[in-house]
Amino acid sequence: MSTTIIGFPRLGEFRELKFTTEKYFRKEISADELLAAAKDLRAKHWNIVKEQGITEIPSNDFSHYDNFLDAAFLFNVVPASVQSLDLTELEQYFALARGYQGEKGDVRALPMKKWFNTNYHYIVPKFEKTTEVKLAGHKIFDEYQEAKELGINTRPVVVGPFTFLQLSDFEDGVKEEDFVDGLVAAYQEVFAKLAELGATRIQLDEPALVKDLSAEEKALFLNLYNKLLADKKGLEVLIQTYFGDVRDVYNDLVNLPVDGIGLDFVEGKKTLELVKGGFPADKTLYAGIVNGKNIWRNNYEKSLEILDRVPAEKVVLTTSCSLLHVPFTTANEDFEPAILNHFAFAVEKLGELRDLDAIRNGQGAEALAANKELFATERVGANAELHARIAALTEADYTRLPAFAEREEIQKEAFKLPALPTTTIGSFPQTKEVRAKRLAFRKGELSQEEYDAFLAKTIDEWIKWQEEVGFDVLVHGEFERNDMVEYFGQNLSGYLFSKNGWVQSYGMRGVKPPIIWGDVTRLNPITVKWSSYAQSRTNKPVKGMLTGPVTILNWSFPREDISIKDSTLQIALAIKDEVLDLEAAGVKIIQIDEAALREKLPLRRSDWYEDYLDWAIPAFRLVHSTVAPDTQIHTHMCYSEFTDIIPAIDNLDADVISFEASRSNLEILDELKAKNFQTEVGPGVYDIHSPRVPQDGEIDHTIEAILAKVPSGKVWINPDCGLKTRGIKETKESLIKLVNAAKEAREHL
Ligand code: GLN
Ligand code: ZN
Repeated sequence: MSTTIIGFPRLGEFRELKFTTEKYFRKEISADELLAAAKDLRAKHWNIVKEQGITEIPSNDFSHYDNFLDAAFLFNVVPASVQSLDLTELEQYFALARGYQGEKGDVRALPMKKWFNTNYHYIVPKFEKTTEVKLAGHKIFDEYQEAKELGINTRPVVVGPFTFLQLSDFEDGVKEEDFVDGLVAAYQEVFAKLAELGATRIQLDEPALVKDLSAEEKALFLNLYNKLLADKKGLEVLIQTYFGDVRDVYNDLVNLPVDGIGLDFVEGKKTLELVKGGFPADKTLYAGIVNGKNIWRNNYEKSLEILDRVPAEKVVLTTSCSLLHVPFTTANEDFEPAILNHFAFAVEKLGELRDLDAIRNGQGAEALAANKELFATERVGANAELHARIAALTEADYTRLPAFAEREEIQKEAFKLPALPTTTIGSFPQTKEVRAKRLAFRKGELSQEEYDAFLAKTIDEWIKWQEEVGFDVLVHGEFERNDMVEYFGQNLSGYLFSKNGWVQSYGMRGVKPPIIWGDVTRLNPITVKWSSYAQSRTNKPVKGMLTGPVTILNWSFPREDISIKDSTLQIALAIKDEVLDLEAAGVKIIQIDEAALREKLPLRRSDWYEDYLDWAIPAFRLVHSTVAPDTQIHTHMCYSEFTDIIPAIDNLDADVISFEASRSNLEILDELKAKNFQTEVGPGVYDIHSPRVPQDGEIDHTIEAILAKVPSGKVWINPDCGLKTRGIKETKESLIKLVNAAKEAREHL
């Protein structure tokens, strides 16, 4: 028996890697200093894993930015145009990660995409016609040797060839199959070199296997692995999967000449059933039993019960996915022990694996007893009033009346907005000043009155500016908010906030998701003060601005003792109360953002409705179902990748939706038309994710393209997301162009 993990957090206990790397970016330290600091951090992390009793320790799970980008460098999937620049290897690496503009050239950053159903983003490599796949990198070897010098014989990790091909981009004219032989040869070279250095095993991460696979994709997988495993160069090969089960390839997988297979028993709904159908005696099952995504203690009894039903002879206990997705340690939090005892971050999860392993080997009775006790006592009391409120909900609570078509008429009459009404998504630039004032207020250096006066003045300025420029529906600007989830969480019961619970999101950036500890209710009105203030300053409608229940849930660490659906309903009721208060305060247009709705769509199409949309969409409807017909509900989503779920989006029954469409060339418009989308739409007319100001005529052109697909009576004109990360100058310039383009388009209707 033994234990392992799939990967460990990289940023460091106190995000040291982030701060050191940022110093390097600011040229305050040299590349050598950065590399030395990273080396120290790796040593520290390996030693922690070792001291916690983990027996198989991975290496090369570290990254200066992203493991997928590391793999691209390992296999030479780096554009020739970048390789030819006079940049060091590290400079090339960061150039592709973040872009480079300087005297040595101009490199655009590679795109970033969400890593499966997590909030981590990976860099998407691009295979070009000129790409010559070969072994080109050395990081995996260096880090193996580095650990070896510390007396730790690690199992190097690298993205597997199937996932690497599936998740990369391809230039027109080349396809996955073109690179199979080159990749197989390069991976085998990696095997050979590692074997030569003394490694005995390698871990190939293949999370792409947990998705629905077509016949062609399965064939690609088998083709790659039949070739690759024909010569393992003496290494034992572990194919590691996570984020779900491998039902489409399980039988193929167990028949391949691999030595270990890593399966996810936490998120993999069918994993146990698959394994119970038979697992080969000559292979090792890496059983992912400790949740790598959540922050709660493992329930040992439940885990042991699952493991007892696993027929495999050789089992290594591991996490369900890399620990990259949880914070570092609970040791630096100052929650009281009664709370803290329920949390396990990365370091504590190592101890859980060790405990479970010991218990299975007839030891660890004490640990088991303590764990049983933890789960035997009630962690948090239920809010009886809230539960009664939820139990009393009926279909009618999820249905807004009158139906949309009738409301649309009523609202056109009530608001008398011009055709193609203009608006923005909510936030205006969070300038240095805005952030400094907020910080000073939090530190107590600024009184409530002073802070409020600052916010009021800022809102006044922007309301005036929006009126002058000619916007039809205004916003207050969200200057009082730090983050669209934390701001609400701080005003909800049942929420906890960690001090150091950072999780890597992209590059060196971390997010600190709040923790849902207990039943959620609204403690007090949250947004009414500033929304009604802003409305009092103008005769134009000002949109109230809320975060929706699904997004609040998806960007928090959820409870495990009640379902995600139930937690979402609780949040929905809290936000519903806020909606009704805003309405009562005279705010007639209310936007409920669901920026993260698309992100947690299950990886398998067959799970989309049953596991998610069937409760997520009604939860949103619950929030706004009882507003008056002439209160207009808007929503906003950050991705336009909802082409496949357009009827579900219409089912939110919002009156208006705005979304990010400018970067996807408005492709989604065809689908909206095909599906007869009813909700009024504002497909963002310019990309706010770049400081670039649209050229003259650009927005006009986009509006024309929209009007070709969507009836003009349904079209709104807005940017594609909130403007808080932008500078004031580019924001104003772009928005003036937007309003003028809308006015111009109106005249041609
Ligand atoms: N209303 C929010 C804003 O404008 C929406 C943010 C988002 O979509 N991520 O900032
Ligand atoms: Zn957005």
